[in-house]
Amino acid sequence: MNAPLLEVEGLTKHFGSGPAPVRAVEGVSFAIRPGEVLGLVGESGSGKSTIGRLVLRLLEPTAGAIRFAGEDIARAPERRLKPFRRRAQMVFQDPYASLNPRLRVRDIVGEALDAHSLARGRRRERVGELLELVGLPAAHMTRFPHEFSGGQRQRIGLARALAVEPELIVADEPVSALDVSVQAQALNLMQDLRARLNLAMLFISHDLDVVELMCDRIAVLYLGRVMEIGTAEQVTQRPRHPYTQALLAASPKADPDAPKLTRLLKGDIPSPIAPPSGCVFRTRCPYATPACAEVIPPLRDSGEGGAYACILDSIPERTEAA
Ligand code: SF4
Repeated sequence: MNAPLLEVEGLTKHFGSGPAPVRAVEGVSFAIRPGEVLGLVGESGSGKSTIGRLVLRLLEPTAGAIRFAGEDIARAPERRLKPFRRRAQMVFQDPYASLNPRLRVRDIVGEALDAHSLARGRRRERVGELLELVGLPAAHMTRFPHEFSGGQRQRIGLARALAVEPELIVADEPVSALDVSVQAQALNLMQDLRARLNLAMLFISHDLDVVELMCDRIAVLYLGRVMEIGTAEQVTQRPRHPYTQALLAASPKADPDAPKLTRLLKGDIPSPIAPPSGCVFRTRCPYATPACAEVIPPLRDSGEGGAYACILDSIPERTEAA
């Protein structure tokens, strides 16, 4: 088995100092091998986008280790991050906001080539190749972003990310701003590119169905912690954690009339400034007992190479509103 390309261990991010910081990410660990796609799924406020930014060092971690190809990224000085930034790229949720509207596509994609000191002579030709790689005609390089549809703009964002031939892409909600009708095309393209270029991905989404489609493995996050991690098949077919089970029960794919997650779970997601003691999910968990307030459940082996953070050995078939 290949050594991990990205290893994250005990990753923690608190915003603000003093006695009540926002505990956005708490002790998260995972690894991604070359060519592998790991999905991070969870509700808004689960810390998934923060993790995406931390692993690219767009944010400074409070604690924990980030290793890329064995090298410590978490504490590397800025000047040593330049080679890393060539090997790991981000694709953003809103393709329009992330593209400079005053630049032509050839300059948007070409800028990425310049920023990494790649061959300038071949720039125009390379931009054309990159556009064709993402399914756009090379001749469109003279157009401006507003001349493209949302799906096409996301393709331009991908071409820009691929310009430096990265090994890892962090994709933060890459299809959630797109119409449902073009989401599938965008996901197909990403799967195709992933296979052709042996790209590893950290694929961030609130939508478990999208993550299931795209990912080899899935980590389910709640209030900054990993609740469950495992193969996409295990997590979606044989969930071990009550939160994963609730996410699945709320999936419109499983049942078009599925109740909303907010109806399946008690109350709202607690504030990350004052998370519940013990299991952070306990205030919404249908199976919580007083014991759940006592200790933070460590990740337990799920028996299928994955792990889950719950004191229960097994959960009933389906979550019902409590
Ligand atoms: Fe629910 Fe308790 Fe398991 Fe947390 S530890 S998920 S509160 S049963």
